[in-house]
Amino acid sequence: MSDCLFCKIIAGEIPGKKIYEDDEIYAFHDISPQAPVHFLVVPKKHIPTLMDASLDDAALLGRLVHKGQELLASLGCAQKGGRFVFNCKEDGMQTVPHIHLHVLGGRTLLWPPG
Ligand code: 5GP
Ligand code: ZN
Repeated sequence: MSDCLFCKIIAGEIPGKKIYEDDEIYAFHDISPQAPVHFLVVPKKHIPTLMDASLDDAALLGRLVHKGQELLASLGCAQKGGRFVFNCKEDGMQTVPHIHLHVLGGRTLLWPPG
C-alpha cells in the first residue's frame, strides 16, 4: 500500500534497522524501544489490523510468531523469554495500520498493561 509507513520501510523507502527478511516477512527494531530488546515482525502483505486477517492468513500469522520466537532467542532472550503483542485498532491503541507483532525482552515486563 503506497501510503503505509511499514510498507515503505519494507520497500526500503524509509530507513529501518532490519533484523530479518524473507519473501513473506520483515523484522526491524522499533524506533522507540520499550525494553532492551524491542522489535517488530510484519507481513509484507498489507493487512491493516488483526481484525482484518482471515483464515487464509493463519499460516502467515503463525510464521510471524515463530520468527519472533527465533529472533528473540537470537538476541539473547531464549531463557527468560519476553512478550509478544499485537495491538489492534482503537482500543488496542494501534498507531500504525499494518499488522505488526511487537516482541519485547531483556527486562521483566509488568502485567497487566495500563
Ligand atoms: P502500535 O502502536 O501501532 O502497536 O506500534 C507501532 C510501533 O511502531 C511503535 O512502537 C512505534 O515506536 C513504531 N514506529 C513508529 N514509526 C516507526 C518508524 O518510522 N520506524 C520504526 N522502526 N518504528 C516505528
Ligand atoms: Zn502496509
